Amino acid sequence: MFTRALVLSSFLTLIQVAKTVLADEPICYSGCQAGATTYLFSNCSSTDLSLVDFASCQCGSVPYLGSMALCYANNCKSEAAVAWDYLQQDICGGLAANTEYISTLNNATHYILPGSTIDKTQPIYSTVLFSQEEIEPTFRTINEYNRQIWLANVYGGATNVVVLIYIILGVINNIYHHLGLRAARSRVSKKKSMISRSSQYLRKKFINPALFHNGLHSRQGRLLGVRVTIPTRIESIALAIFLIVNIVILFPNYRLFTDNTYWPDNNPLQLCRYIADRTGIVSFTQLPMVFLFSSKNNVMLYVTGWSYDRFTVAHKWISRTMFFHGLVHSIAYTVYPYLTIGYDGWTLYKLYATDLYFQYGIVATILGAFILAMAMPTFRTRAYEFFLATHIFMVVFFMIGLWYHVEYIPLMAFMPWLYASVAIWSFDRFIRLVRLILLNIKLAKTGYQSCVARVLPEDCILLQVPANRPFLRNIRPGAYVYIYVPSISLWQSHPFTIAKWSEPSSLEASVNETLPVPETDIAKTEGDRASASGSSTSQTFNGPSFDLLIRPQRGLTAKLYRKILDNHKPLELNVIIEGPYGHTAPMDQYDTAVYITGGVGITASYPYLQKAITKSPGRTRHIIFIWIVRTSQALHWVQEDLCKLLKEADSSLAIDVEIYITKESQAEDLPKPLADSIHFGARPNVIKRINEIVTVSPSSVAVLACGPPGLNDEVRCAVSEEGIPYYEESFSW
Ligand SMILES: Cc1cc2nc3c(=O)[nH]c(=O)nc-3n(C[C@H](O)[C@H](O)[C@H](O)COP(=O)(O)OP(=O)(O)OC[C@H]3O[C@@H](n4cnc5c(N)ncnc54)[C@H](O)[C@@H]3O)c2cc1C
Repeated sequence: MFTRALVLSSFLTLIQVAKTVLADEPICYSGCQAGATTYLFSNCSSTDLSLVDFASCQCGSVPYLGSMALCYANNCKSEAAVAWDYLQQDICGGLAANTEYISTLNNATHYILPGSTIDKTQPIYSTVLFSQEEIEPTFRTINEYNRQIWLANVYGGATNVVVLIYIILGVINNIYHHLGLRAARSRVSKKKSMISRSSQYLRKKFINPALFHNGLHSRQGRLLGVRVTIPTRIESIALAIFLIVNIVILFPNYRLFTDNTYWPDNNPLQLCRYIADRTGIVSFTQLPMVFLFSSKNNVMLYVTGWSYDRFTVAHKWISRTMFFHGLVHSIAYTVYPYLTIGYDGWTLYKLYATDLYFQYGIVATILGAFILAMAMPTFRTRAYEFFLATHIFMVVFFMIGLWYHVEYIPLMAFMPWLYASVAIWSFDRFIRLVRLILLNIKLAKTGYQSCVARVLPEDCILLQVPANRPFLRNIRPGAYVYIYVPSISLWQSHPFTIAKWSEPSSLEASVNETLPVPETDIAKTEGDRASASGSSTSQTFNGPSFDLLIRPQRGLTAKLYRKILDNHKPLELNVIIEGPYGHTAPMDQYDTAVYITGGVGITASYPYLQKAITKSPGRTRHIIFIWIVRTSQALHWVQEDLCKLLKEADSSLAIDVEIYITKESQAEDLPKPLADSIHFGARPNVIKRINEIVTVSPSSVAVLACGPPGLNDEVRCAVSEEGIPYYEESFSW
């Protein structure tokens, strides 16, 4: 019973210390009050002194107020007025009314006695000059505590600054590209300038390559048997610097001393508390970045020209460092009671854990661990929709946990980081909603976009969508849209690259007319498939439209594929569109633009070709368009449009189309414009081919690749050898 009471009272004292630490109390008041507490000022009896709150007796004591005023004058300088106000209003309330600081100080200076000469058991009727030993430890303790909080914010800010520096470098690089400086420079003289030689070196060694010589980037690697995505070398370097900064900031600048008044004679406890607070604060400072980099409407995407993939890498890694700090914070607070001298650690821990804010902290830590574990490629790629739903769900509860965890800690000012994160998330959702409404609300009476879906050979879906909004009409290579198919799933949305744009000039039919169910000349062997296919991939709508080419996977796309087949003819489909998102690689800044795509990856490269031919090729004089497919059936996805497009090309623009059909040794009925460029039964030797292109090219060459992970990694190897600009679309994040 007695032990329990002792522990409880000790716990209350500890809470009191914590409150002192967290209260918005001027340091000047706290330091001087530490001196005053040891004296029996007139108006106070020894019984009063045993109480925690002396205000009622002290505030009515002229010597007390005088001693405090003197202490303020000697130790506080500019803070004195604020501290006096605090003493009057917050501590004394009405009790010390009409006691002006200056007049109290003037009166006090007539009767000063040094503290060392006073008998502390007797009431005091004069002003006390507190000794430095009485007040200095408290001043030092609070100063150090405040310094730790300030440092934690500075270090957290430093991790943000590292990211900001990366962003600034990205912006500079983007401006450099878009002004076409590099391309222009390399055209001026064949003899390479120092800058172009060093940028080639940087591309060879750092910017283009995968991290390791095994070339794994688009393909996943394995770490301790777990599938992991390996960032590129430049991303890894940036991440390594970021991680090092995150580790290094944990170590410096702790001042531990035995006369610390919060944690006396216990340096390990002080250190533990400082580490706990530092990591907790750093963790919070990274929260807005985590939200910003996962948002689709992240302005950084536009200013840096980096892909959403790259920001997803940043999102993942900052989440990990944030969790790392959160975990250290939790561990430190778990160890904290065990380091408290004179208490049973477990009993004290249990007492701490009765506090709601402590429980919310535990919940947030556990949820953070789950969120990270569930985002591993093993789970994410196997069941993306499940991952997404649980991710959002857990993040909501994680944020609620954090919110209640810090709501009562005003001094550390955690809330602004939470507000910023919620604001970023809300802004993203709001813009997405606005985009959805703008794009869809007027499109059809139903509120949905009406489009036509058909099955193409080699398991592909062609979705033709009317482009009823101006921002969907301009050919913007690299653009992708999210498609919702409410008849299959109300909440799922999937990204697909806009593969082709169609102008109103080449009308074929109207969506209002009966949808064409033409005799197909393709895939005749499969009854269902043939009847759900169109013989033509050309335009279906009266107005401008765009096409998506969709390779069915296991989820929504598989259901859509089945639905079209079951319809036995092209399917009129209501969809909701969100977008467009995505960025255009500055391929038109280079004399030779090389596109290497595999299978449905053609959706990423075709718009560049279409723009170069129908709008403007920019600085490009030569386009090499390499497409690798398994069978000649896949050519039907684009061959009709491709042939038309090639006919339109201006003679000043050289275009080489190279098609590789890997699983066939020959094919019949190939359209003439394509027939000459087809290679059967083999894949290209990418390294050799890129080397040939670079060797014969008169000046700048850039490569864009989009294909299966293996192909992307092979191209990355090749462009690393050459040190030329490289852009990759990977259809995954
Ligand atoms: C920017 C971008 C552009 C793309 N463009 C095309 C394109 O033009 N043509 C094409 O065929 N495919 C494209 N994809 C891939 C396409 O989004 C997925 O194949 C599709 O979402 C799979 O849907 P599912 O339900 O059938 O997938 P599942 O069978 O459940 O999963 C198959 C794979 O797709 C991934 N995936 C599933 N849902 C999503 C999602 N909402 N967002 C991102 N990845 C997801 C999974 O991680 C998994 O690796 C693109 C992907 C991205 C990120």
